[in-house]
Amino acid sequence: TPPADLGAPSSGSLGRPPVPDDPLVVLSGVNKHFGPLHVLRDIDLTIHRGEVVIVIGPSGSGKSTLCRTINRLETYETGTITIDGEPLPEEGKALARLRADVGMVFQSFNLFAHKTILENVTLGPTKVRRVGAAEARTRAMELLERVGVAHQAEKYPAQLSGGQQQRVAIARALAMDPKVILFDEPTSALDPEMINEVLDVMTDLARDGMTMVVVTHEMGFARKAANRVVFMADGQVVETGTPTEFFTNPRSERAKDFLGKIL
Ligand code: ADP
Ligand code: MG
Repeated sequence: TPPADLGAPSSGSLGRPPVPDDPLVVLSGVNKHFGPLHVLRDIDLTIHRGEVVIVIGPSGSGKSTLCRTINRLETYETGTITIDGEPLPEEGKALARLRADVGMVFQSFNLFAHKTILENVTLGPTKVRRVGAAEARTRAMELLERVGVAHQAEKYPAQLSGGQQQRVAIARALAMDPKVILFDEPTSALDPEMINEVLDVMTDLARDGMTMVVVTHEMGFARKAANRVVFMADGQVVETGTPTEFFTNPRSERAKDFLGKIL
């Protein structure tokens, strides 16, 4: 089998400085089953602070499970996962803090339907981070401004387009001052004309130095924003490389086959 994790990341093509070798999320020998299905197999993966890692691979290869496991929305059986040197907590306040440190943006937006856009963004900081209401509101409005939906702050999620809702979901994750944000196919549920408005926000975050793990089929975004591409198949990290290495010269047959189908 090829080496799963080649270590030092590249700088990507957004004109950012090179990412230092500063491990933030470290998975080591992680295995997970759903019943008889071995869905994560011996995953060794290090996400460095400031790094943008794109995860691609066929449907069912374990990409969502990988994200959910890092955020402890799923348990795992063997191996270790650390965030900033700390093992993943199992429950209670520490787990709530972990979920704040490790933001997640889902394919289906997952906003709170009965709360306003502004409340969606202030809820986490006030409840989990113990930020005061006025400060949380000011910061939320700044973030909504940044993602271009400040004028919708008093509306409810269903009154916004999918692209706007997803930008709110990104603002909500950012409001927690996360150490890393996991994006699981954030544009897959969007109408085509809304994909770019979300990718533009994500590109902006990447340029700003946010640590990001992005499961996506948007290869243009991957080429532009990624420090590193991780290719998964059948629950394994089959190959990792810089976007240029991976897209122009994939090493594994699985990756060649996959790229042949999508490019
Ligand atoms: P991907 O995101 O790469 O499409 P997933 O992580 O969603 O893959 O799924 C990996 C495998 O695990 C698939 O075979 C899927 O059917 C299975 N799976 C995912 N979630 C569950 C679950 N909660 N229970 C049982 N099987 C699951
Ligand atoms: Mg998935």
